[in-house]
Amino acid sequence: MSTRNKRLMRPLQRTSEETMRTRVGLIGDPVAHSFSPRLQQAAFDALGISAKYELWHTPAPQLVERVRSLCNDGYLGANVTIPHKQAVIHLLDKIDPLAARIGAVNTIVHRDDYLHGYNTDAPGLLYALQEQGIGTLQQNGQVSLKGHSALLLGAGGAARGAAFALASAGVDRLIIFNRHLERAQLLATDVQQSYDGPIFSLNDVNFLIPHSSSIIINATSLGMHEDISPLPPEVLTRFDSDTFVYDMIYNPTQTYLLCQAGIMGLRTANGLSMLLHQGALAFTHWTGEPAPLDIMRATLA
Ligand code: NAP
Repeated sequence: MSTRNKRLMRPLQRTSEETMRTRVGLIGDPVAHSFSPRLQQAAFDALGISAKYELWHTPAPQLVERVRSLCNDGYLGANVTIPHKQAVIHLLDKIDPLAARIGAVNTIVHRDDYLHGYNTDAPGLLYALQEQGIGTLQQNGQVSLKGHSALLLGAGGAARGAAFALASAGVDRLIIFNRHLERAQLLATDVQQSYDGPIFSLNDVNFLIPHSSSIIINATSLGMHEDISPLPPEVLTRFDSDTFVYDMIYNPTQTYLLCQAGIMGLRTANGLSMLLHQGALAFTHWTGEPAPLDIMRATLA
């Protein structure tokens, strides 16, 4: 084993020791909106781990160089966000089976001189929904969404995680609605390999059929920067009053979609709970330690 490998396998340094801080950060474009630094830094500090969480704004032409830099000494890994979750997968050494099935990575771990890719968005979403009272936690620790129909808006990196998560939780049907139809169709085909229920892919709202007990999940970036909704209000209004609307976006806290859904009396939640849970799982991948969930949650209040 190389000296470098031995060094990487040592326990993480505690802040009381006089050492250079380990670096970890968020790779994406944009990243300025992200709450991950405050969430993760609080967790590192609480456990006395000498790590600094940074924002690494990375336009697409710089992605290869950025990922390569994680192989350097002193890098713990990274989170990956819009728009790189799929592109990054080909730049890593080892991909966790769930992330490989999903085809998207949101967490990179630098371990034993290799870059490992994980997807914590998928389980993070299910924990978030369950925390909102959607679905039931089974004895085996899995969340069941039987009895619900899911309308997933988007087919990008986050949506891929969501689609696999919803399917694994046993939703009665999955409808994937995306601007580029072929991307939705590809996702549907991939999910169908491990899911028996019906999947529909659409890019025209006129073909949307509202079902009772629907969960609508926005996994597009629409609503982050302007008051625009991925689902026109006249379509949203056709859904039953028991519909739950979840927007993965958390900054702004109330997107136009959530405002419209609230006005119609539908139950809503923003993406803070998913941020928390995917972040907690990422923290454990980097450190091998259970995440201090309450401390992390308090940073989002
Ligand atoms: P991504 O891979 O770039 O995918 C973007 C998605 O948005 C695609 O489905 C894309 O459709 C759609 N889209 C973008 N611009 C559009 C437009 N003008 N009109 C219609 N559709 C448009 O990004 P991502 O990583 O999946 O992230 C998506 C969102 O989820 C971001 O807002 C991100 O912050 C959020 N997110 C939150 C959490 C959390 O923990 N709360 C976790 C993950 C992601 P096309 O395929 O047609 O281009």
